[in-house]
Amino acid sequence: MKLRRGAGKAHHGSKRKTGARGGAAALEEFEDAGSPVGARLRRRAESSATFDELLDGDFGDLTASESERDGAAIVINVSSGRCRVFHDGVEKDCLLPPQIATRQKSMLAVGDRVALETADGGNWRVRAILPRHSVLARPDPLNPHLQRLIAANIDVVINVVSLKTPPLRPRLIDRFLIAIFRGGAQPAICVNKIDLVPPEDRERELAPLLPFAGLDVPIIGCSTRSGEGLDALGELLRGKTGALVGHSGVGKSSILNALDERLQIATGGLHKRGTGRHTTTSSTLHDLGGGTFVIDTPGIRELGLWNLDRDTLREYFPEMQAAAELCRFNDCTHLHEPDCEVKARVATRSIHPARYDAYVRLSEEMGETAR
Ligand code: GDP
Ligand code: ZN
Repeated sequence: MKLRRGAGKAHHGSKRKTGARGGAAALEEFEDAGSPVGARLRRRAESSATFDELLDGDFGDLTASESERDGAAIVINVSSGRCRVFHDGVEKDCLLPPQIATRQKSMLAVGDRVALETADGGNWRVRAILPRHSVLARPDPLNPHLQRLIAANIDVVINVVSLKTPPLRPRLIDRFLIAIFRGGAQPAICVNKIDLVPPEDRERELAPLLPFAGLDVPIIGCSTRSGEGLDALGELLRGKTGALVGHSGVGKSSILNALDERLQIATGGLHKRGTGRHTTTSSTLHDLGGGTFVIDTPGIRELGLWNLDRDTLREYFPEMQAAAELCRFNDCTHLHEPDCEVKARVATRSIHPARYDAYVRLSEEMGETAR
């Protein structure tokens, strides 16, 4: 496999703000199998990076030199102390240096470009991580101050949802959109299992998605059973690196299999051999050919918003941006100020009330946790 584009491209200038540094002590990777107790304890003191630090590629000793940026490998899977990469047209197993291995879920992600070096015994080892043009991150469920990387260098992140089994949860979509916007990738929404809803019921069943229709976010209805919408999905991903994210059971693996029948990823919560439950526990990058790569991610039931506070939250509601320019106060929170254009547009429904409600709820949530 050839790298599709120059690794280490500078990320675009977005309005990202870094927010407060998460400086709390952390006990990370606690669940990693085979991790010596002593190493676990040493990890207590690790603190989290800011979003800009995740992207800018200043990784201390692990920063790639100019010459290392050429011929970088791309990470396709990360496991305890190791990763698998594409490099020079072949897949390779690589060791991780201790600086990465001790907090690998926050340091290295599928999609990362890495420079390799040879280690003892003819092994390959990751030497440096290249700057990222985007990331998708979430807080560690056990320690909200610590971010965990889900994927890196993605162009488009598709939030896969289904109308039934599991039921639609629009408030989880709000959260995914925020996380995607923040990380610098383009979001899209894929409504799978559309075959479960008869055509005459679709308008009613799809109504909860209307709040998202006014955003510049593609919404694609699809079914891996009927094949509906798969072409549109393939078109959206063509020539890009995409990631499929969402609740487990919505059909992420089925969609990947439908996009490329060679993949044969286990689906339906059942192991391929029929022995016990299968859940995707780590992200994997799949090469669909033609410069298209798709990352399959573990199901996410709840999505915390890492390092986000009340003051930065409103930047990630794109429909409020233009209105905010017309609010009386520059730093209007759109919650209680007079002459607030956002609230005026909510009243006339040119900003969807459900999205505004989501904003208010998240803001309240952050007010409680941040102070
Ligand atoms: P994942 O957990 O998001 O990867 O979901 P899976 O791909 O494992 O799919 C979960 C279940 O939904 C499986 O039983 C699939 O057969 C089923 N499924 C996937 N896509 C569709 C679809 O378009 N229509 C219907 N009716 N079922 C689907
Ligand atoms: Zn306002």
